[in-house]
Amino acid sequence: MSELEPGQVAQIGANIDAVRGRIEAACQRVGRDPGEVRLLPVSKTHPPPALMAAHAAGISRFGENRVQELVAKAGQLDPALGIEFALIGPLQSNKAGRAVQCAVEFQALDSLKLAANLDRRLQALGRSLDVLVEVNTSGEATKHGLAPHDVPGFAAELAAFDALNVRGLMTIAVLSPDTGQVAGCFRMLRELRDRLRDDQVAGSDWPELSMGMSGDFELAIEHGATCVRVGTAIFGARPPLTPA
Ligand SMILES: *Cc1c(COP(=O)(O)O)cnc(C)c1O
Repeated sequence: MSELEPGQVAQIGANIDAVRGRIEAACQRVGRDPGEVRLLPVSKTHPPPALMAAHAAGISRFGENRVQELVAKAGQLDPALGIEFALIGPLQSNKAGRAVQCAVEFQALDSLKLAANLDRRLQALGRSLDVLVEVNTSGEATKHGLAPHDVPGFAAELAAFDALNVRGLMTIAVLSPDTGQVAGCFRMLRELRDRLRDDQVAGSDWPELSMGMSGDFELAIEHGATCVRVGTAIFGARPPLTPA
C-alpha cells in the first residue's frame, strides 16, 4: 500500500470541505437544498490511504472507473470501515461477476446484454444493484453511453430486470471552455430524465442525475445534478491515462 506524503491527509480533508462549500453555494444560487446533492469522490489512481483520509472526513462511498482497480482497493481496505464503491466506468461482461461482488452501484449501464448478465448474477446472489444509464450527451465518438434518442427505448427494456434498481441517468459533459456547450449537455440529460420520470418508465421515478466533475460540478448542480463525481478537486492531479 503506497503511503501519502506528509500533509496529504489534511489536504484531502480540506479539499472535501472546500468542495462541500462550493456545492452548498451552487445550491443556494438556484434555491436547491444541498441535501439533494450527493458528493461522490472519485478515487481512481489514488491509493487506499487517500480513501482512508477521505473516510476520516466523512466519505463512505467512492467512485472508481475500472473494475480491477475497484476490486483491488476494496480488498486492501478494512471492512470495518464500511467503505462502498460505485463503478462509474464501462464494464465488460467478463468482469460483471467481480463488479457485482464489490460495487453497490453502477453508473455506466449502456447495454441490454450487460443488464441481463448483471441481473442473472445478482439474482443468484439474492442481491440487487443500483444502476444509472449512461448517456452520451456530447456526441463525441470517444465517449461511452447511449445516444440520447436511444434512451427511452432502452430504459423501457430495463423493466425486465428485477435485480437492477433503476435510479437515473449519468453523463460526462463535453470538455470545453464554452459554458454554454457544457450546460447544453446537462440540460439534455435533465430533459431526458424528466420524461422518463413523468412516464414512470421501468417503474422508476428516475431520481438520480449524475453529472458534473471537478471542472463543471457547480454548473451541473445549477441544472439539477443529484450526484457530482469529483476526483481531481479532492485527491489532486492523476498520472496521465494508461490503456486499460
Ligand atoms: C475520472 C472521472 C470523474 C472525475 O473527474 P475529475 O475531473 O477528476 O473530477 C468523474 N466521472 C467519471 C466517469 C470519471 O471517469
